Amino acid sequence: MRDIEYYKSRPKIDAHNHLNLGMRYSSFLAWSGKKIPNFPRMMDGLDEMHDVIGKYTRPRCRTREDVERLIEMSILDAIADGVTVLEGSIDIGFMVHFQGDVESFLRMTSDLARKYADKLDMRPELGLGKTFDKDKITKWAPELMRSGVFTSIDLYGPEIEDGIEEFKHIFELAERLDIKKRAHVGEFSDARSVRRFVEFFDLHEVQHGIGAVGDDSVLRFLADRKVRCNVCPQSNYMLGAVKALEEHPIKRMLDAGVPVTVGTDDLLFFDRTVSEQIFDLVSLGVITEADSDKLLAEGI
Ligand SMILES: [Zn+2]
Repeated sequence: MRDIEYYKSRPKIDAHNHLNLGMRYSSFLAWSGKKIPNFPRMMDGLDEMHDVIGKYTRPRCRTREDVERLIEMSILDAIADGVTVLEGSIDIGFMVHFQGDVESFLRMTSDLARKYADKLDMRPELGLGKTFDKDKITKWAPELMRSGVFTSIDLYGPEIEDGIEEFKHIFELAERLDIKKRAHVGEFSDARSVRRFVEFFDLHEVQHGIGAVGDDSVLRFLADRKVRCNVCPQSNYMLGAVKALEEHPIKRMLDAGVPVTVGTDDLLFFDRTVSEQIFDLVSLGVITEADSDKLLAEGI
């Protein structure tokens, strides 16, 4: 039986990491000096999580230096886990701390990637929140995307189809610029919505996507189109999307031939790195060691 050190020592990708929340709580606490009560803890879905973000993490991020430090802590904790490819997202909302100055936002991003280039391949992703000011997204996203700094975009927020048309032009631009297209779907939503999002935005990858297991034809659809799902088992468990880690459907996705990676989502909240999660899944008998090899090889 392989131990945790084995998984840490293997090269691996984290393709689902929101870089403003991607650090250990201990790293965050040492920097912020402000305790989050009873934390990390199990939460009742995204609402409770957003409560904590609104009360404790967002108010602590006030300047561009704060944004930079949060991202840097996430990079360092990824390196500590042996992550060699980090496709982490930087939320477009942080542009407000740069007073909308695209140039300096881009400079921060590429400087950080360069600073750690000997340790990991950082591929910055532009994160687009569905609830963020649409005018600002329309104003900033195209210029940010044309810079060549971002290798992917990710759309997240409430997993509903209302209003997704408003983001269509961003995804069409991504297609023209050869930027990888991703969206969050199928964390709490069903197989039908996973398929609908993939078709509507012509997604290359899905963040979560576990809802797809509700319909074998959708699993086949993802496998045939080679749509990678960047799955976060510990996040799914701690937010109540799955009842227990033992019941996580990742094995069914793998067996259906869907390309799958394991990501951290928000290490600050869920406290299990990529290596730790793969180790947990094997230890609990959810996946085999052969499956873990597949997970490690994906995206590398
Ligand atoms: Zn996520």
